[in-house]
Amino acid sequence: MKRKVAHSEEERKAFIAKGFKEVGKEENGNYVFWSNKMTDILSKREMEVFELQDKKNVEIAEILGISEKSVLADNDVDAADLHLVLKPEIIEKHEFSGGNVAVIDQEKCISCGKCEELCHFDAIHHNDIYLIDELSCEGCGLCSLACPVEAISEHEVINGNWFVSETKTGPMVHALLGVAEENTGKLVTKVRKTASGIASQEKYDKILADGPPGTGCPVIASLSGVDLAVIVTEPTVSGVHDLERVLKLAKHFRVESKVVINKADLNKNQANRIYNLANESGAEVIAEIPFDDNVLNALKEGKTVIEYNDQAPASKIIKEIYKKIVSSE
Ligand code: SF4
Ligand code: SF4
Repeated sequence: MKRKVAHSEEERKAFIAKGFKEVGKEENGNYVFWSNKMTDILSKREMEVFELQDKKNVEIAEILGISEKSVLADNDVDAADLHLVLKPEIIEKHEFSGGNVAVIDQEKCISCGKCEELCHFDAIHHNDIYLIDELSCEGCGLCSLACPVEAISEHEVINGNWFVSETKTGPMVHALLGVAEENTGKLVTKVRKTASGIASQEKYDKILADGPPGTGCPVIASLSGVDLAVIVTEPTVSGVHDLERVLKLAKHFRVESKVVINKADLNKNQANRIYNLANESGAEVIAEIPFDDNVLNALKEGKTVIEYNDQAPASKIIKEIYKKIVSSE
């Protein structure tokens, strides 16, 4: 992370001890530091430009309503999209392995057929030799236990990557799962744990996470142990159905929920059903976002709606939502 801010004399000393270079002081008294790596490779002029850019980014963060003290986590690892508007600068890239696949050593195999017989996932087929279909194999390990000649071993598979990045609103942890890969729950847990580690190490006081849709394993991995779930739904039959299930899930995990109705003006009857459902499960509907063309136009330009037009109806309400979320802490 190239830019650091020390909020106290103690933090300032800690940054100096870690080798960061003090480059200035903000109006509010905070000290600004840069990593030596950056000060070594940038000219004075470039430093000024970067510093200006960072100030601008802090302004954007404030406009977005996102405090400087937040770590972002994109838990929607199946269809991650925060990077499209936040344009992260990737600082770390790691491989993710969600499990194993079995492999047959043909030199050892005596073609007894036990593995094919036992595999519950229909992943082993005989065609002159016994072969394992990697896409069907769940890595359960049963075949390797059953093989009489120890011809089957398990190998780790790489299902995707996870990243730590710097964005205009602070650090972000996100991931990219390979095509048709599974084990998203494990990857969500990895993203959450990494974000949590950054938050405690760098003293960020909030983790804002974008959760996946639906109610499957990745949603459970996203929801458990959070302080507040903000459920964004739409007044459609499927939106109401999903909301009902997510509210139940949140209740099961004893997570407080608040509801936001997106495109609230599309269907008044379904919007009323959302109010009733929220009411029944003790969740407050904190906002209705109207259908707003500015959202689509912002996405076309790769911006958040607040950056695109901070006076747009959707922007004003999103800023209010953030204030309500923060004030509920
Ligand atoms: S590890 Fe399990 S799923 Fe994979 S081939 Fe063996 S028995 Fe089938
Ligand atoms: S159980 Fe082992 S020996 Fe038998 S067919 Fe499978 S791999 Fe070959």
